[in-house]
Amino acid sequence: MSINNLFTYEIIAQETPYIKRNCSKCKTNTEFYCSEKFRVNANQKIVDIWLIYNCIHCEGTWNYPILSRVNINKIDSWLIQKFMNNDKETIWYYAFQINRLRKLCSDVNTDIRYELRKEKLDSQLSNEVTIRLCYKHDFGLRIDKLIAQILGISRSKLNRLSQNGTILLNPNTNMKSKVIDNLQVTIIGDWYQDLTK
Ligand SMILES: [Zn+2]
Repeated sequence: MSINNLFTYEIIAQETPYIKRNCSKCKTNTEFYCSEKFRVNANQKIVDIWLIYNCIHCEGTWNYPILSRVNINKIDSWLIQKFMNNDKETIWYYAFQINRLRKLCSDVNTDIRYELRKEKLDSQLSNEVTIRLCYKHDFGLRIDKLIAQILGISRSKLNRLSQNGTILLNPNTNMKSKVIDNLQVTIIGDWYQDLTK
């Protein structure tokens, strides 16, 4: 009998996604990066808030609309403070709204750098290993790509292990789906010992 271990793997984005759209100065479809700054415009009681993106070539700006013509009394004062202070967590929340950005841009580049932080939570006598994924900023990572990376095996080997029931997902979903926060991956049997070290 081997030791079952429960781990968390936190997926930590190292940057915000780049977006693609037309730059009016460069006169071409090009990439913009998030400046990590909001623009807040208050006219009487009407507020507009944008998140500023800059062209990678000419620093030309594109303003990503966050709130448009909202009465200031309808926004919580703590949220206004976060916009005014360029609060990083708030900026990243909007910069990772990829579906919304895709509607406003010609493309969103989700191929961003990320790190994995492993933490061991619990041990008990069993021949299973369970990994819980923490995924705060969703950038469309595929389950099979991530699990193959964590286990250090090829995607084809991973798919064989998934098909023969050695690797189980909870909630039960397809290996080719996107990672969701709190997804649990259970590996049955003692074929894989490196993870428990
Ligand atoms: Zn430009």
